[in-house]
Amino acid sequence: MADTSLEDDIYIMALENAVKHKAVPRAGAILGMVMGTHPELRSQAKEINALLPAILKKVEDLNPDQREAELTRLNPDAIGKMHEKKERVHELPALPGAEKGVVMRFAPNPSGPLHLGHARASVLNDYYVKKYGGKFFYRVEDTDPKRVDSEAYDMVVEDLKWLGIGVTDVVYQSDRFEIYYEYARKLIALGGAYMCTCDNEEFKQLKLKKTACPCRDLPVEEQLKRFDDMLAGKYNDGEITMRVKTDITHPDPAVRDFAAMRVLKSPKHPRKPEVFVYPLMNFSVTIDDHLLGMTHVIRGKDHIANTRRQEYIYKYFGWEMPHFYHYGRMSIDGLELSTSGMRKGINEGLYTGWDDIHLGTLRALARRGIQAEAVRSSVVDIGMGDTDISFSWENLFAANKAVIDADADRYFFVPDAAEIEVKGAPKTEAHAPKYPNKPERGERVLSFAGKVLIPQKEIEAGKLLRLKDLFNIRISANGTSAEYAGDSLADARKEKAPIIQWLPAENTVPCELLTPEGVQTGCAEPDVLKYEGRIVQFERIGFAKIDSTAGGKAVAYFTHR
Ligand code: GLU
Repeated sequence: MADTSLEDDIYIMALENAVKHKAVPRAGAILGMVMGTHPELRSQAKEINALLPAILKKVEDLNPDQREAELTRLNPDAIGKMHEKKERVHELPALPGAEKGVVMRFAPNPSGPLHLGHARASVLNDYYVKKYGGKFFYRVEDTDPKRVDSEAYDMVVEDLKWLGIGVTDVVYQSDRFEIYYEYARKLIALGGAYMCTCDNEEFKQLKLKKTACPCRDLPVEEQLKRFDDMLAGKYNDGEITMRVKTDITHPDPAVRDFAAMRVLKSPKHPRKPEVFVYPLMNFSVTIDDHLLGMTHVIRGKDHIANTRRQEYIYKYFGWEMPHFYHYGRMSIDGLELSTSGMRKGINEGLYTGWDDIHLGTLRALARRGIQAEAVRSSVVDIGMGDTDISFSWENLFAANKAVIDADADRYFFVPDAAEIEVKGAPKTEAHAPKYPNKPERGERVLSFAGKVLIPQKEIEAGKLLRLKDLFNIRISANGTSAEYAGDSLADARKEKAPIIQWLPAENTVPCELLTPEGVQTGCAEPDVLKYEGRIVQFERIGFAKIDSTAGGKAVAYFTHR
């Protein structure tokens, strides 16, 4: 502390802390910072403590912009460092050959709405298109009629819009059957594929013995005739399969002469009921990735074997392969993520719908107040490394808090509300800020006229409680009423009295808070009814999105603490 006085240094630390955390720091926090950075001052803790109230008052008297301006003037490095930190996060490695722009895609099966796993696939690819410019295809992979849910087509579009994915082109694979047939013929003609009529089980046994099946070496004309017969409807389900010729001794049996096209007469395709010959995923994905000009594909590790299979098709046609990246698996604790599991639960009434709070769908997250921006940034933070990880709810919640906090007004929600009479207290009003340290946001006025509602669990005989922004009360010996116990916050602190939320008994609305663990029933300030569709912070509880206000009752979804 050479050129400036001790007071100035403490002032700068307090400013830095206030700018960083967007709130005036507590004296204890600053004292800790001073002692931490300047251990030589430990013996002067008392003197420093005496300086703090005046210094913090100076910080408190400035608005956030003034604080930042003041800090820039006094210690520009600190501001610079804070901004640097912000820019450093959310950076993914450069992609080779991407400088002139990229063509990438998100290619889900329309079997249900998008969940957090899809968010990773779509956000990572989208990130690079936004970074380098180019095209971003939303490719609907609906060539397996058993895995198409007609409602999912629209749901996925809504989810992508919500997530802010910059789709430039939309392709339905079910509009492209003729293209797949055309390229199948070409591949057969090149000797890269054959039409196999072996029984599936027999083929499997041969494959395990690294032995070719008798169909493999039939002349090309015979193969093409079988192909045309298949399209003409002469084969039924399971009677014929188009296979890509691979190394029949390939170490991975799943690669050996993998299936590329099949007959499926039922179920009917919801968009193309006349179709009964379907390409399998590896075939349609490869044809489309090439024809649509993909430059880079980022997908999960579970596609590594597919990449190996697809490479054969690229080679037969002499096509250049896109750059493929395979990120590690991501487990997500605590939520149902499999589309089939979710559907089953919805049908059985276990979940209320695709946006049920127990599901990992994006619409469920949105309903409880998670912002798309937070999903995007936490997914980019996870990145595309190939190590398996478990999804961090803490990171998502921290990212979300950073987005929602500044707009969330504070209110009191009293769960399990118990009415209690406070004796000996003056009639008075509490003035509580809608947002701490931002008087310009306005205040809530709660009138006290003798009876309050407080959480049942706080009622214990003889316990001192501080009703936040009002005064202190002491619960009577029999636990049925309370005595006024003065206004002093310092007294309450001294006795470590909990500072609790409360409501005037005569001015509340019923409120339900839906959390993953269950429903909390209670009461809230009536103004909460004005926040339908918006997020508030219930003091001491956490953020919540007001889902509905029908009939004067607020139903809120718990977002996170
Ligand atoms: N439709 C495939 C899937 O959702 C994706 C194909 C791919 O990314 O190559 O698993």
